[in-house]
Amino acid sequence: MTALFAQRALLPEGWASNVRITVAADGRIENVLKDAARDPRDHNLVNRILLPAPANLHSHAFQRAMAGMTEYRSAADDDFWSWRELMYRFLDVLTPGQIEAIAALVYVEMLEAGYAAVGEFHYVHHRPGGGSYDNIAETSERIFAAVAETGIGLTHLPVLYTFGGAGKQPLAGGQLRFGCDDARFQELHAAARSGLGHLPADCAIGIAPHSLRATGPQQMKALADAYPGGPIHIHAAEQDREVAEIEAWLGARPVEWLLGEAGADARWCLIHATQMNDTEIAGLARSGAVAGLCPITEANLGDGTFNARDFVAENGGFGVGSDSNVRISLSGELSQLEYSQRLRHKARNVLSGKGVSTGRNLFLRAAEGGARAIGRDSGALEAGRLADIVALDAGHLSLCGLRDDQILDGWIFAADDRVVSDVWSAGRHCVINGRHVRRDAVERRYRSAMAELLGLL
Ligand SMILES: [Zn+2]
Repeated sequence: MTALFAQRALLPEGWASNVRITVAADGRIENVLKDAARDPRDHNLVNRILLPAPANLHSHAFQRAMAGMTEYRSAADDDFWSWRELMYRFLDVLTPGQIEAIAALVYVEMLEAGYAAVGEFHYVHHRPGGGSYDNIAETSERIFAAVAETGIGLTHLPVLYTFGGAGKQPLAGGQLRFGCDDARFQELHAAARSGLGHLPADCAIGIAPHSLRATGPQQMKALADAYPGGPIHIHAAEQDREVAEIEAWLGARPVEWLLGEAGADARWCLIHATQMNDTEIAGLARSGAVAGLCPITEANLGDGTFNARDFVAENGGFGVGSDSNVRISLSGELSQLEYSQRLRHKARNVLSGKGVSTGRNLFLRAAEGGARAIGRDSGALEAGRLADIVALDAGHLSLCGLRDDQILDGWIFAADDRVVSDVWSAGRHCVINGRHVRRDAVERRYRSAMAELLGLL
């Protein structure tokens, strides 16, 4: 049992003073007391503000290694599809050891940014060319090793990727490393599930049909029944071209099809959902599915702008993810989300809530939606939930003169993640004074994995 004591914390009922949080050995919050007296044995967090630590609901860890390598024009009209070509070249050479080293750095950076957990949308399953590794879940195991080393909470999302494009086109090139028909996916998922048993009990598994263009309609309809329990994640409606291709093939827009034909409900998280019409926005909000927004990556790839104003007005649930990991910043995702709306609607404070600041509204909604999306019992500082907690340094220069909601606004809009001082994931104290406890070793392995990888490219 550990006890944390802080002068200020954001609880479900609002800001509270002299808060004492006890954490049980199973990583859950046992008790939250406000206006409490400090026990001398408590971990006394002087000048720190405690918040629920959100989950990062969407990551492809290996793509972190490409950050900064695709910021030049490779075609007359550079867009998502030319970025994807470069990503596929990477896949010709990436090894399991490199996947582990890259993922470990990614998880260190996520924890230092204030995330306590991640939904890893994992699709590089096989050898270059498509042959299985001796252990069919070899690359999943490498993700698990990175999770074990860094202490981040994991919801593993093995990806079902059967076709190379809309209309059941064959896989080609880099896609061969992703490929699974139903039987191969079943085998892989079972192996990954058993490997997960070595991780702490808060780690979980779901499924991720990659996208409508990479699966078949019958396959999609059968999936929820074939894997009862656990979240279902899918890329949906990221690109205009994808919407047009799906509409031509299935006679419906992607989100429209998923809601109507696949029965997307509260188990589902639709990643991006950028291109939606008004009917889809209202339908997705009503369905209980979470919109998995990745504002930095969506801006980086030129996807377009999610209409968050209307979706939030319909009370839709959302969380944020770092997706391509081109920049890992929790405050950056949230500010980019709000700024995208300011530019789209020519207004300020588009996503603020009644009586609360924009920063607080964005943060708490993303904490709640992110937890729901990855099936993790976190997102609020209350008894019974996992102790996913982030502490901000209220004495940081960037937060000088701010209090309560303003501190969240200051973090998100004025500072950066350097104001994060400590992070606990299910009670595991992973970040202390702004630095991950294993950063040095993880950094060294990342540098040598990158040198090796660049030598192979
Ligand atoms: Zn993605």
